[in-house]
Amino acid sequence: MVKIKFPDGAIRSYESGLTPYEIASSISSGLARSIISSDFNGQKIETTTQIFDDGNLTFYTWRDNEGKEAFWHSTAHLLAQVLEEFYDGIKLTIGPAISNGFYYDVDFGEHSMSEKDFLKIEKRMIEIAREKHEFKLRSISKKEALDFYKKNRNQYKTELIENLKDGEITFCDHDNFTDLCRGGHIPHTGLIKAVKLMSVAGAYWRADQNNTQLTRVYGISFPKQKELTEYLNLLEEAKKRDHRKLGKELELFTFSSKVGQGLPLWLPKGAELRERLESFLKKAQKKAGYKQVISPHIGNKELYTTSGHYQKYGESSFQPISTPADGEEFLLKPMNCPHHCEMYNSKQWSYKELPVRYAEFGTVYRYEQSGELHGLTRVRGFTQDDAHIFCTEDQLNEEFKNVIDLVLYVFGSLGFENFTAQVSLRDKENKEKYIGTDSSWIEAEKAIINATKEKGLNYNIEYGEAAFYGPKLDFMVKDALGREWQLGTIQVDYNLPERFDLNYVDKNNELMRPVMIHRAPFGSLERFIAILIEHTAGNFPLWLTTNQVTLIPVGEKHKKYSEKVLELLENNEIRATVDDRNETVGKKNT
Ligand SMILES: [Zn+2]
Ligand SMILES: [Zn+2]
Repeated sequence: MVKIKFPDGAIRSYESGLTPYEIASSISSGLARSIISSDFNGQKIETTTQIFDDGNLTFYTWRDNEGKEAFWHSTAHLLAQVLEEFYDGIKLTIGPAISNGFYYDVDFGEHSMSEKDFLKIEKRMIEIAREKHEFKLRSISKKEALDFYKKNRNQYKTELIENLKDGEITFCDHDNFTDLCRGGHIPHTGLIKAVKLMSVAGAYWRADQNNTQLTRVYGISFPKQKELTEYLNLLEEAKKRDHRKLGKELELFTFSSKVGQGLPLWLPKGAELRERLESFLKKAQKKAGYKQVISPHIGNKELYTTSGHYQKYGESSFQPISTPADGEEFLLKPMNCPHHCEMYNSKQWSYKELPVRYAEFGTVYRYEQSGELHGLTRVRGFTQDDAHIFCTEDQLNEEFKNVIDLVLYVFGSLGFENFTAQVSLRDKENKEKYIGTDSSWIEAEKAIINATKEKGLNYNIEYGEAAFYGPKLDFMVKDALGREWQLGTIQVDYNLPERFDLNYVDKNNELMRPVMIHRAPFGSLERFIAILIEHTAGNFPLWLTTNQVTLIPVGEKHKKYSEKVLELLENNEIRATVDDRNETVGKKNT
């Protein structure tokens, strides 16, 4: 017998050698029908894998991200099978699931494929899917695996296998198709009821420009035709709401290749919108005890060597700016934190004066590959609604909760009601890639989790998602179209106070290290406004909108009175205009 623990804490005993599917069946037939993937002791396993040990078992359905991942990855196998059938001699490489669907990278050799071929491929995929072929994972020796792909002259798979350990290699079979794969499949192809290929693009093998260019085929699949239709409607709606399109129509911002890629230019209406967001947050921050500060756009290279940002961003970002002075080098500011640390260091603090909360709408610059740039969501210069809190260890939990309150206030005021919290911790297996001591990390992680719990937030923990200098709490916000965005980062940092030798005098007149919290409810104003535009389709909340009231005089003789009303509204901080065009009232109303 084996002891199986379920996510709700229940522990039950089962005969050794049962599969997740069989265990689910013993619980209820409904559950058995809906499980499409599973996890045993933190590892993906097939629903058909036999379990011989005690451990934790989680079932996933289509509703879970893990379930979708298995569903889409399995569909990638189906796609690969059909591509091999239609295009003789092509070489398959990798076919993972992505956040919306899957792709397969293929070396088509002498063949070429285009969007014109999508329909016949989709049709064939569904045809095979209907035959309900089981996905079967089997172990294979390294030699046999290499022989299989050498026979096909597939140098890509061969290279992948070369890097795997003998004894840890598996193949997945379904129907007459075999693929190198480490697993994570749905039980059988019959669950795939709707498939849509989305696009083809070029992609380099292993994302290296020196390698062969492959063809990446993107697709998505669903367990019901209706869900595919809904998804396609959603994409249509998203296109209409694209912030790049609406931003232009609403005259909010523009880009100029002369100014430079990824450097947004805010037009008057966009600048006004930004200013309103800024003053809204400034007001809330003032109430919460923050003080505004201002720091320059560049800083001495040494500042960022001290902070560790140069080591992290240096080579892959904008290069240092030299000056006529010998050896003097400056960097475009990639982060505001080092500047704020030096502000903190401008005087000797006593414990009685803490917490110190410095806030700044600070513009930072980071180099992004031109292919990665996207409207306002990926830019090379952006303004963070940044703040740094310096406090004692004892104040950490309270401060963290105050920041959570502020973030929730911001979301509420802007109509983001659907969100979850994600606690990002260290990768337990790979501790050396993080700066700071083990004990600091343990304390910081505890502080975040406790504050999140005390605020009653819905949260999940992600290992390995922390920044290099500290664990963090991110808010994952769902917009009106159900898309998820990461907003509102709060981060504990024990590392910068150490590097900048920050201190305060405690009760016993001894020098102590403060703890630092980084936080940004919007994240960056650029990205936040992009999300806000797409969430509201450009119909901003009344308090943010440029023109709150339009006065429409019915006739010439009402014009004077409407101007009086306009003045009254303006005196009361209400943004209004008079529409005195020589048009009918009906026309003016639009
Ligand atoms: Zn697979
Ligand atoms: Zn910071």
